[in-house]
Order: sequence, then C-alpha cells, then structure tokens
Amino acid sequence: MARKNNSSKRTFLIISLIIILLMAFIYNSKMFEREPPQVVADETIYWNLKKPLDVKISDASGIKRVLIQLSDGENNITLFNDKYSVHDKELEFNITFPKKGFYSKKNEYTLTYEVVDHSFWNFFMGNKAIKESVIIVDKQDPSVYVVANSYKITKGGVGVVIFKAGDANLDEVYVKTNFDKVFKAVTFEKEGYYIALVSWPREQKNLLNAEIVVTDLAGNVARERIRYYLQDKNYKSSKIALSDNFLNNSIVSLAHDIADETTQDMSALEKFVFINDNLRKESVKTIGAVTDNISYIQYFSLKPFYPLKNGAVVASYGDFRTYEYDKNKVSESYHLGLDLASTSGADITSSNRGKVVFAGDNNIYGKMVIINHGLGIYSLYGHCSSLLVQEGESVMEGQVIAKTGRTGFAFGDHLHFGIVIQGIEVRPEEWMDEKWMRDNLFDVINSAKSLIKSEK
Ligand SMILES: [Zn+2]
Repeated sequence: MARKNNSSKRTFLIISLIIILLMAFIYNSKMFEREPPQVVADETIYWNLKKPLDVKISDASGIKRVLIQLSDGENNITLFNDKYSVHDKELEFNITFPKKGFYSKKNEYTLTYEVVDHSFWNFFMGNKAIKESVIIVDKQDPSVYVVANSYKITKGGVGVVIFKAGDANLDEVYVKTNFDKVFKAVTFEKEGYYIALVSWPREQKNLLNAEIVVTDLAGNVARERIRYYLQDKNYKSSKIALSDNFLNNSIVSLAHDIADETTQDMSALEKFVFINDNLRKESVKTIGAVTDNISYIQYFSLKPFYPLKNGAVVASYGDFRTYEYDKNKVSESYHLGLDLASTSGADITSSNRGKVVFAGDNNIYGKMVIINHGLGIYSLYGHCSSLLVQEGESVMEGQVIAKTGRTGFAFGDHLHFGIVIQGIEVRPEEWMDEKWMRDNLFDVINSAKSLIKSEK
C-alpha cells in the first residue's frame, strides 16, 4: 500500500515537473512570443500622392497576415490582404492611392493596418496589431510672391526681400542661394508675410542666384526667384612676402599665445600657415554659430554704424591676400572686415542697441564682441584690448562696449569691425552709409509695409 502511494506520488511529481518545464518553454520560446507586430507609420500623414507611402511592419516571430484598408468615412477599400507562410520578420508596403473606389473628392482618409504574427500565443491565433493613420491629401503647391526687394546686391553686400507665402499645411519658408546657403525668413508685419536678408559672399566666383522656397507637409514645394541687379565689385588683391624676422618673432609669439599645444613642434612658417588656415576657419565657425538666428523687431530701425571716433581706415573689406615665403605661395585669405585705427586703447561704440551674443576670445580675432541687432544683422568688434560687456547683456545706442587693442592676429592697435548677416561677414561700408541703408533697406521695408496695408 505504502509502495503504491509512493509511486503515484512520484508520477504526479514527474508530470508536474514536465508541465512546469513545458510552460517555462512556452513562456520563453520565440514560437510563443507575446509581442504584437510593429507598424511604423505616422499618426497623421500629409500626402501629395506623388510618391507611394512607405509602411514598415516587423515582428519577432514573423508576419502571418496583413490587412491594409483605406476609408473615406463611408467606403472602405482594401489595399492589401495577404497571408504569408514564410516567417518574414520585416515587410515593407508601398501604398498608392486607389484609382477607383471613392466617389467623393474628400481630402481626409483613414488608413487602417491589421497585422497578425506567426506566434503560437493566444491558442495558436498569434498576436494582433491594429493601427490607424489619418491621411491628409494635399496636392496643392504653396503660394509665394515677392512684395518688395532691394533693387541690387553688390558682391560682398546685402539685399532684402519681403514676400507673401501660404499653404494649408505650411512647413518651411526660407531663401536659398546657389552657394547652398539658406537664409532664414521671419514673419513681417502680419501673418503670411516674411522678411529675409540675403548676401552675396565676397569669396564666391559666380553670380548670386537667390530663390524663396516654401514647402508644405505633403512635400509640395514652391520656388520664386528674387530678381536682384547684381553689381560686381573689384576688390583689392595683394601679395605679402613673409620675412624670417616676422615669422620668428611675431608669428612665434602669436602661436605661443593662442595655440601653444598644437603648434609647439612646428616651424615658424608652419605656425603661420596653421594660424592663417586652420585657426581662421575655427574663428569663422565660432562667428557662424552665434550669428545664425534671425529675430524680428517690430519697430526695426538702425543708424549707420560709426564704431570708432576719428578712426582711419587701415585695411578695407574684401582684400584678397596671398602670402609668399621665398617666392612660393604658402597661404591665402580674404579680409572680411574693415580695419580702423585711432589712438591705442580707444573707445569702441555700438551705434545701435542690441544684445551681446559673444564677448570673449575668438583666437585670430582676439578679444571679440558680437551684438545682435535683429533681422539677422550682427556687428562684430575684434582685436580688443578689453571688453566692457558680457554675453546676454543688452547694449544701448552709443554705449562704449570695448577698447581697441592688438589681441589675436593683429600687429598694431586697431579695430576689426565687421557686419555679419546670418553667419556671413559682409561689407561693413554699406552699414556705415546712411544713403545705402535708406535706399536698400528702409525704403524697401516701408514700401512693403504700405503695400501690405493696402492689401488687407
Ligand atoms: Zn581686420
């Protein structure tokens, strides 16, 4: 009796163990995975019907059945109803809009995805995923037209454009040039109107071509060319022979000051090339990073810049310099500011109010201040001996912001004055000339304002 009891107990234990092991196997087995399939599709899709919609479906145990339907609220059209015996873990569907089936011309639809996997879970029924996307059909290109633009752009200089752009599903509005530069635009006066400043960079060999680009969420794009009269300008080119004396004294000590670690094993000539090429690029990058934003100021006004009282011009904007050593060309650069000098340690004044976006060291520019004046216009002051403002500070019109000096790549006390438009150093002379500013900026802005008012 006792023996029989013992053996049935053992049988029971063995069966229980088998059941537990089986359950553990099922629970951990891939064949019994419990994750529903993944459907990669946005909740709202804007579609211009030009390209098929891509929908990606994936599942760990493989996809068994896919049902994709499109509905206009009344009618349902089945786009895919497929069964798969192969355990594909990933499938991609290219959805095109059905040519027949919908009678009404609606522009809003619902796309439903129903997917079942090959898992043995749910009593061999598998896991099911149901997902929906709202489809907004938009085949209309955005609208765009120029309200006003400055008549001309001089090489190295700036022009303005004011335009109207619209779309039911508007995405981006900007100005693009053939130099791959994107100028941001900002709302002007009233919703739907925009303003942007455009520049023709000094270093470019080709003529400028600028167009307004307006995109919508469905991928429709409108472009409108801005018709500027392009005025070429001959800038000065000069050859500068590097002397051993200059390299061994000025350059060696400059390299020691601004890039000691990277240049310590270089020859004096290599130090010069490193400073004029690599460090210049670094400096330009720093300037680009802090001058990229365009902020709109409702009552925009600017006075001509006059940063240094009685400052004599010691180097003008746009000079192209080729450096030679032993009659061989070793480096080149464009001078993209206006160098002004008076007495050493002279007051540098901001002629316009604005906000300081940079106040610190910028290697070849030395101690430098950059002020944001709105609309993507920034003023820059380099080689200072001391800075009297801090980043984030607002400056008043006429405020002394720094003292001139010879920090950075400068070999005499002077101010390197620059105007930067969304990352590009442009001709400061334009922004120091009241007539230029009136003809090319304020008259255009004012005529656009009255045109917009009359449109209503
Ligand atoms: Zn300079």
